[in-house]
Amino acid sequence: MASIFSKIAAGEIPSYKIAEDDRYFAFLDINPVAEGHTLVIPKREEDYIFDLDDDQYAGLQLFAKRVAKAIKKAMPCKRVGVAVMGLEVPHAHIHLIPITKESDMNFFGGKLQPSPERMKEIAEAIAKEVE
Ligand code: 5GP
Repeated sequence: MASIFSKIAAGEIPSYKIAEDDRYFAFLDINPVAEGHTLVIPKREEDYIFDLDDDQYAGLQLFAKRVAKAIKKAMPCKRVGVAVMGLEVPHAHIHLIPITKESDMNFFGGKLQPSPERMKEIAEAIAKEVE
């Protein structure tokens, strides 16, 4: 069965899309730890990121770099933090999180719940900066 992220990449489940190409897809995390928290995934489903073959893995990182640069331009932050960590969704994903201090990368505090309008606004602002 396709993962929820495969369905998002296929457009079968709606998301606040940031960018895509033929192999990768970026969209806002639905429960962000900071505004602009973005997930970057390979369209081809693989559970564990370090099981990707070298080409897919390198491509994912380069795609994430493009998206991170766009987040940095669109969101007020000092840097964009990167994390690969969770066990929740069995589809490889990179978290990109705009931060002004290290404690902004807090996955264990309260998550934000921006309104749909705000999520749309953030996604559009970041998407506009993707080169
Ligand atoms: P992890 O597997 O790294 O713990 O985290 C999975 C992330 O995916 C979480 O931050 C969670 O908020 C996000 N997430 C889970 N389901 C969905 C979904 O249906 N849509 C979006 N946009 N994000 C999701």
